[in-house]
Amino acid sequence: MSVESGRFRARWVFPGDADPIENGLVEVGDGVIVGLSDKSDPDAVDLGNVALIPGLVNTHTHLEFSDLSEPIRPAEPFSSWIKSVVQHRRSRETQTPEVIKQGIDECRQNGTTLIGEIATEDHDSAVYADPRLSVVMFRELLGLTEQRAADQRQIAETHVARAPNEEASRLRRGLSPHTPYTVRRDLLDFASRLAQDERCPIAIHLAETEAERQLLSSGTGELSEMLQAFGEWDPANFEVGRRPLDFLHMLQDVDNVLVVHGNYLDDEEIEYLGNHPQMTVVYCPRTHHYFRRREHPWLRLLNAGASVCLGTDSRASNPDLNLWGEVQFLRRQFPQVASETLLRLATSSGAGALGLSARTGSITLGKMADLAVVRLPDVSHRDAYGLLLEPHSQATAFPPGLPS
Ligand SMILES: [Zn+2]
Repeated sequence: MSVESGRFRARWVFPGDADPIENGLVEVGDGVIVGLSDKSDPDAVDLGNVALIPGLVNTHTHLEFSDLSEPIRPAEPFSSWIKSVVQHRRSRETQTPEVIKQGIDECRQNGTTLIGEIATEDHDSAVYADPRLSVVMFRELLGLTEQRAADQRQIAETHVARAPNEEASRLRRGLSPHTPYTVRRDLLDFASRLAQDERCPIAIHLAETEAERQLLSSGTGELSEMLQAFGEWDPANFEVGRRPLDFLHMLQDVDNVLVVHGNYLDDEEIEYLGNHPQMTVVYCPRTHHYFRRREHPWLRLLNAGASVCLGTDSRASNPDLNLWGEVQFLRRQFPQVASETLLRLATSSGAGALGLSARTGSITLGKMADLAVVRLPDVSHRDAYGLLLEPHSQATAFPPGLPS
């Protein structure tokens, strides 16, 4: 069965931008959606009791940790978790390209067709090449000293110049200034301007912890102590009285900004994001839960008109890279939220966040045939979303049965 062309029948098709279609028929030609209907077609491949949904979009992960069998401990305090991550990175033996491929396979097998990846090394494009999914490779930038920042500017320029963000490419490039406290202000400014010039997206971890707010506002707390322990503390980088909003302002002219986590955004920041649709908050539900953060403001953000999408984050804080697991987690924790909303966050909102709505994120004529399959329970009732999000449903790659 080729994914490039064919006609596929499913019990339900969820286009994502329209009502579900019972006994839906999806026609694929040269990897593009060319037909969507419920017309009869005896020659179509009948996928059976499944739903076809838009391929899932995992907007935030770090694939370099894809070989971890369980999250890194301790989860708290956050500075101890970061130290353990750094230690793990220094001690591991596995070659990162193999681990990245392992992560891509895991994502694809669970129905993900677009990944926002934070890359800490300049891997060859071939590491990310997979004809069945797209990757936006955000090069991580880290630097508090002048010398380090100069090196990182070079790395950023080389990264975005390497392969233009051609329309046809399944690999695209972005920049990820790591956090407001691990990147000098001039480096962040540089990344912002470069992203504007090159029309590439930016991802930044922001408002992730209370400790971050404390560091920005007063230059004190566990993160300041951590930077001192790493020998990276320079009070000149931490003028007091700052907050995440200042960093949103610095990035407001970039086409697409992913505000990763946003766990501790305040009211004013939520309102600001509601007025800046080019910025999307990436909520990583199970990672948020792992760190036992304060209740995430995603519903307040949605109410304010802000964009929200989903990510798994890495296996350093999550048991797996299965984005459908995030959807199921939200279904359990927030039964009052409409299923349509959850599906949107997992698909079209993610595609929009990464600047790829015109190509993917919904089953729409002319978009790429980025699809996922959800096996449905053997019951006769016809509540489409109830079937789709029943507690044990699992998303898998399209078409089902293709060797991985
Ligand atoms: Zn992250």
